[in-house]
Amino acid sequence: PLTAGIVGLPNVGKSTLFNAITKSQVEAANYPFATIQPNVGVVEVPDARIDRLVELFKPKKTIYTTFEFTDIAGLVKGASKGEGLGNQFLSNIRLCDAICHVVRCFEDADITHVEGSVDPIRDIEIINLELVMADLQTVENRIGKIERKATMAKEKDAIVEYNILKKIKEVLLEGKPARSLDLDKDETLLVKNFALLTLKPMIYVANMSEEEIGDPENNENYQKVKAYAEAENNLVIPISAKIEEELSEMDKEDKDMFLQDLGISESGLDKVIKAAYNILGLCTFLTAGEDECRAWTFHKGMTAPECAGVIHTDFQRGFIKAEVYSFEDIDKYGSEQAVKEAGRLRIEGKEYIAQDGDVMHFRFNV
Ligand code: GDP
Repeated sequence: PLTAGIVGLPNVGKSTLFNAITKSQVEAANYPFATIQPNVGVVEVPDARIDRLVELFKPKKTIYTTFEFTDIAGLVKGASKGEGLGNQFLSNIRLCDAICHVVRCFEDADITHVEGSVDPIRDIEIINLELVMADLQTVENRIGKIERKATMAKEKDAIVEYNILKKIKEVLLEGKPARSLDLDKDETLLVKNFALLTLKPMIYVANMSEEEIGDPENNENYQKVKAYAEAENNLVIPISAKIEEELSEMDKEDKDMFLQDLGISESGLDKVIKAAYNILGLCTFLTAGEDECRAWTFHKGMTAPECAGVIHTDFQRGFIKAEVYSFEDIDKYGSEQAVKEAGRLRIEGKEYIAQDGDVMHFRFNV
């Protein structure tokens, strides 16, 4: 499963957020394949489409799709030089698919800041610089290994790789992340093996106080982070980690009321989950029936048989066709029968590229 790593300086609210995640963790009974480790939290991806399908089908079982977060505590200044447990933390980030970068935007004299004051841009730059430095080491090591092959022996593959690595090294030397380069598909594939940290998609999570979360635009620190993130083409999600921790202990009804009182429509954690899901290019298809309504994760661009394979490899192997309609249609017409009568149910074959929100039935040979 794909996982987003939670990083940030000490005392910015990472553990508080991660506690909220583990307390909202899915029940293992429904997700027997979820690997639950102490630093991993598996959460459901909130999806109003499933709620609507449940209303229509009244199934015996409802299953949301899931997403994983990994707590990567302890990233500090100097990590790339091996300070603290630097290298270990960096290699934990290497295993993640996306990065959630938590930034302290709350003022609280009782909570020490490692750098002595609250300054979100300085903090962001400390962490980002560590990631850049770590990548620089990786890239330089690799360049050292292939330089002779590329420049002396003129091996074709080595030349291609060498040129990309030089390009990446250049932006890293400017202190910029590798993702700021527009690599094409082939280049991306080539550098994938190096698991560069600054090539991973990233979102900022701006942690602010419970008083301010109702109106984040009024928080000066949040404004700064937002401007910074926008300039980098990254998303920023305002949350109050403390509130998320409280919310994670409530049932749905209390949660909705509490959010209303705060003047927010959706919990910050739900927003973070959705944003992380999106930056990873993940989509959802749905299966619906009286037994079960369920959301499944697939990668943008996957075909119908590949989606069938998400459910079971046998479904993919024996794939014949898929009956497909869109969530919008069942939402509008109210039943599968009505969708059919409106001529909105399609039969799709092996080449069909699945779309987010498709409701699919697969026909297959066993
Ligand atoms: P970490 O080191 O990044 O994991 O930070 P923690 O989650 O342990 O938080 C450090 C301290 O800040 C803890 O005492 C938290 O209770 C507190 N804290 C976290 N978020 C907030 C917040 O939004 N407002 C205030 N006032 N304190 C917070």
